[in-house]
Amino acid sequence: YEAGSASGELSGAQLIAEALRAQNVEYMFGVVGIPITEVAVAAQAAGIKYIGMRNEQAACYAASAIGYLTGRPGVCLVVSGPGFLHTLGGMANATVNCWPLIVIGGSSDRNQETMGAFQEFPQVEAARLYNKLSVRPSSLEVIPAVIEKAVRTSIYGRPGSCYIDIPGDFVNLQVNKSSVKYVECCPPPPISTAEHSAVSEAASIIAHAKQPLLIIGKGASYSRAENNIRKFVDLSGLPFLPTPMAKGVVPDNHPNCVAAARSMALLHADVIILLGARLNWILHFGLPPRFRQDVKVIQIDICAEEMGNNVRPAAMLLGDINAITKQLLEEFSKRPLKYPSNSEWWKRLREKMLNNEERSKDLALQKSLPMNYYTVFHHIRELIPKDCILVSEGANTMDIGRTMLPNYHPRQRLDAGTFGTMGVGLGFAIAAALVAKDRTPEKRVICIEGDSAFGFSGMEVETICRYNLPILIIVVNNNGIYTGLDAGSWKEMLQYGDPVTSVPPVSLLPNARYEEIMSAFGGKGYFVNTPEELQNAVKASLADKRAPSLINVMIDPQSERKKQEFPWLTRSNL
Ligand code: ADP
Ligand code: MG
Repeated sequence: YEAGSASGELSGAQLIAEALRAQNVEYMFGVVGIPITEVAVAAQAAGIKYIGMRNEQAACYAASAIGYLTGRPGVCLVVSGPGFLHTLGGMANATVNCWPLIVIGGSSDRNQETMGAFQEFPQVEAARLYNKLSVRPSSLEVIPAVIEKAVRTSIYGRPGSCYIDIPGDFVNLQVNKSSVKYVECCPPPPISTAEHSAVSEAASIIAHAKQPLLIIGKGASYSRAENNIRKFVDLSGLPFLPTPMAKGVVPDNHPNCVAAARSMALLHADVIILLGARLNWILHFGLPPRFRQDVKVIQIDICAEEMGNNVRPAAMLLGDINAITKQLLEEFSKRPLKYPSNSEWWKRLREKMLNNEERSKDLALQKSLPMNYYTVFHHIRELIPKDCILVSEGANTMDIGRTMLPNYHPRQRLDAGTFGTMGVGLGFAIAAALVAKDRTPEKRVICIEGDSAFGFSGMEVETICRYNLPILIIVVNNNGIYTGLDAGSWKEMLQYGDPVTSVPPVSLLPNARYEEIMSAFGGKGYFVNTPEELQNAVKASLADKRAPSLINVMIDPQSERKKQEFPWLTRSNL
């Protein structure tokens, strides 16, 4: 592909497309319009897979998931003003999750700036807060250099989002190839290891621990450290706990996984090895009352500024997780470490796990209708393939689903993440399905959403059908946000007057037929009320390897999660 090459001339759009391709960008998501339609057309011609989405926010979520799944950024392409503004949520979500992303926004023509141009907005300034880099190339000639810098910045150090602003008049402007400053593809990030003294300090703290715990975060999963972490767990015999998106770095059914005793493990650990996870709200800040006051944290992270946040670490291992795990393995080959499986700590953890598993089992096997969350997840778990990619969002749907649906492979769980963003699900599912299609076509994407979460980007079902992506969406429908009303109570409520003044803020329309959105676009829709209907619908959806489908599962609108030992747990996402 060299459209303008005969004359040695290129349009701005072609230059952008070629520069992205030169940086190994594979996927671009967007919504076209003035002034960037030509960029999308040129990108497709240059061999980039362009996916037209229905809203810029979902496009941006999809592009960010590409970064997490492949380690190279996906691109989100949007128009000026409102189109650009709709990506702020996606850029923030990517940066907060530490995922690479490139957003390219068209903007007003240079000669109309400050004149009140069409969709004019101070985009470069607005983007700065959400991005590692926010730039507007000053000429066509520097575009390849700017794109290389954005790609490099997005993946080097702590990954994050980068924004490139393209003046509308650049898109169709012609430039002579000989004057363009071309830059080669940026190599993968350089690998840094931790200081030797810090590694041996960490090893001696671990060797003396009485109640050690390894916490595996999504930094470990992003850095593809699964083989070495697995070795480390097997050799050391340490109990481990994955954070939500780190599930599967070591399989959830590994005997050393203590997820079912999470609260207890956190509360009593005397030494914690923190592998690519922040001590933020997800880990209760590493502080009492959820942690021991005197807990010794061995912090492993690529970002120096992260060290010491909330808890002063006993050892700081700055660098790449995979490389540092290797260093730890080497250290322990010199002084073998085997944490005894018959220790008091292991006994207590195992006892707690058995106890907790019993409690969910009771709820899962309840026969009453409508179903509760546990029953739904129990039946789904029995039927879905072990290697499926799980996307999950919604309050209870995500929280309960996380504990009940195991992951056996790394980077196969995508959810609301560090930012707790609802509405990410369909964008993530689309990205995951594209990556699976190109790399592991046997893997299915299953997107399990609350009815509220589904609503944020439900029209992306059209995108799924247009590209014929074999995604199975399961909407766990409780008629509302947290809880809802059943059809009877709804009718009763309406007797008291105007819905605008009487519908509870948590309520959504009872028995909404979300599956018909799927059938409207040619996919398969199922409306299910019983375990048997659910099983049949899941089986039929999985048997059809090509068609997208949506199963709308009605559950008890008052269905709640099981009682937590810590009452404050119910408010948080964990
Ligand atoms: P979780 O949500 O699983 O708790 P976080 O997103 O809070 O995880 O933390 C992930 C951490 O991993 C971040 O602090 C980030 O800097 C770090 N990280 C990302 N990539 C790497 C890497 N290759 N090596 C080491 N640390 C990394
Ligand atoms: Mg709901």
